[in-house]
Amino acid sequence: MNDKVILVVLDGLNLKVAQDCLGYLNGLVEHKKASQYSLYSELPSLSRPLYECILTGVTPIESGIVHNNVTRRSLFESIFSLAQAQGKTTAAAAYHWVSELYNRSPYDPIRDRHTHNESLSIQHGVFYHWDHYPDEALVLDGEYLRQEFDPDFLLVHSMNIDDTGHKFGLDSAEYRNCARHADIILSNFLPTWIEEGYQILVTSDHGMNNDKSHGGTLVEEREVPLYLIGDRFSHSDISIQQTELCGLVCELLGLLHHKPFVEEALT
Ligand SMILES: [Zn+2]
Repeated sequence: MNDKVILVVLDGLNLKVAQDCLGYLNGLVEHKKASQYSLYSELPSLSRPLYECILTGVTPIESGIVHNNVTRRSLFESIFSLAQAQGKTTAAAAYHWVSELYNRSPYDPIRDRHTHNESLSIQHGVFYHWDHYPDEALVLDGEYLRQEFDPDFLLVHSMNIDDTGHKFGLDSAEYRNCARHADIILSNFLPTWIEEGYQILVTSDHGMNNDKSHGGTLVEEREVPLYLIGDRFSHSDISIQQTELCGLVCELLGLLHHKPFVEEALT
């Protein structure tokens, strides 16, 4: 057993497409090594507001991060800030908006793209600012951070699925194939992470629609998957809210916190 946590956020991944296209992850579910839940994203179903929701447990309406151009630091305790303040090591391979929310805003690629600073909430970061930054490179960045700095909490956040959805829409071979590709990339690393006993969450911020966008209340924009992998999870039949992911991770990390979480999700 291992108290370290890896949170994988596959940006813009619709639930149905995850269920249809992620062969490796659904194979883990079929062989009882993972459980899959459905989450309904908070509103608006937009990226930056939902990064804040996932990482702080606070809804966009409450956090004030209500659209993608609200460029400022979060006003709330996050998994990163709680973990860093309580002596844990934090790391993220993620889109630059995550650096803006929890480290420094606005993002300066020269200063922030490669971050190593123990006093920041995200102590070790590899951030990117291109929506087409390859998922292969991103997951490699995450694995580099894991091997090099042994973080207690690691966020791995990819963008290609969302980017492809904006170009081709939900009901497209391109969008589905991009999800299949992300599954193959993850299958290169997940066996090692599982073997080493990490508690792993794989989810998404929001889904996608056929207008090549998201942001509203359509089921396909809001329904996203949550895969839980690890022996700290109960794998029982429960319902989990997107606002409860933060508290769940804080519990796994053994942090003192006041975030909501579902006790039945854990053993
Ligand atoms: Zn998007």
